[in-house]
Amino acid sequence: MTTAFLNARVFDGRNPTLRDGLVVLVRDGIIAEIGEDVAIPDDAERVDCGGRVLTPGLIDGHVHVVANSVDLTAGVQWPSFVFAQAGHIMRGMLDRGFTTVRDAGGADAGLVRAVEEGWLKGPRLVISGLALSQTGGHGDMRTIYRAPGEATHDRVGSMIGRICNGVAEVREAARDEMRKGAKLVKIMASGGAASVTDPIGNTQFSGEELRAIVEEAVAWNTYVMAHAYTPRAITAAIEAGCHTIEHGNLIDEATAKLMAEKGAWLCPTLVASDILTKFADKYGFSDTSMKKIAFVCERGLESLQIARAANVNVGFGTDLLGLELHEYQCNEFTIRAKVEDPVDTLISATSRNAEMMCMAGEIGEIVVGARADILVVDGDPTTDPEVFTRHGETLKVIMKDGAFHKNDFAA
Ligand code: ZN
Ligand code: ZN
Repeated sequence: MTTAFLNARVFDGRNPTLRDGLVVLVRDGIIAEIGEDVAIPDDAERVDCGGRVLTPGLIDGHVHVVANSVDLTAGVQWPSFVFAQAGHIMRGMLDRGFTTVRDAGGADAGLVRAVEEGWLKGPRLVISGLALSQTGGHGDMRTIYRAPGEATHDRVGSMIGRICNGVAEVREAARDEMRKGAKLVKIMASGGAASVTDPIGNTQFSGEELRAIVEEAVAWNTYVMAHAYTPRAITAAIEAGCHTIEHGNLIDEATAKLMAEKGAWLCPTLVASDILTKFADKYGFSDTSMKKIAFVCERGLESLQIARAANVNVGFGTDLLGLELHEYQCNEFTIRAKVEDPVDTLISATSRNAEMMCMAGEIGEIVVGARADILVVDGDPTTDPEVFTRHGETLKVIMKDGAFHKNDFAA
């Protein structure tokens, strides 16, 4: 199957300036040719972009598609129910222009396959499996009434983590998640905002455990993504060899410098705390949780400025929970626009995220040989951060792997 996009203004995912009047030819799911004088085969489907902007499909580097409830402890539900809702959440993401998402805990290989085979409509899923957490860590959602040793190693409903302690157990957990289809290993390396029992200032996992997990990921030719907020936790994770730091809201200059030296990545997720602050009453968060959420929210924009100033590699994530809150996924663009150029956010959400996920050249770029994940949009997302916040209204075309999810130009 061949598709020719004509008269497109191309944002290629990397270059901040648009190129006018291009033809982008897609053959068998791959971008085959780009140029002003591309010979268009007779059997090609023609899409006249009419001078609109054509961009790579968006990438969200931090999602939880099984997080159907803002209260993660409400995870004890039928897996079938949770996964049906995951289908709804994923469909919404694709409708908003996200053609790839990295799941940071919860999604399994069954969901990956369901999308690949077309049983569910959604973005390509790159999964971590269950996030590894120590006892009392950010992924330990047990009530405090649980008996010692009563762990939650089995997947139940919307669970996003599993508990492991000590070098032997963390190795086993990492290997087990990769055996089950995880493409990377996710760990909880510091306290969290939405959780109740773990203070945000603690570190989680010992240096020995962190190094063992990184060793297992590297042995599998992949990497570790680490949830971490504070300079202390980020430093421990980076020194152990973790590749991406998730959130990082409380980062300081010295830590940013260390990350830049190591070539590590920051995946900010500013919209999550922003939205939770707005909906606090509705979801009945405790005062303790709300104080933590308000604190990381305040520091979020500053963390992005500190990271940019130190030349840290910066990706793009959202980390939203709950069925309704996923609607605000693209507010990440408008929030970041308060401190950076919209085109830099867009580069983070396309080519830079692909690099962060070790998928450079495959996704996130309009370049020959890349997968044909393509959006045609009304408006200019390189200058206007609100183009994507209208729930897909501005998207005329959404193509994933060369197949149309949406084509407003079709007769
Ligand atoms: Zn997290
Ligand atoms: Zn998360």
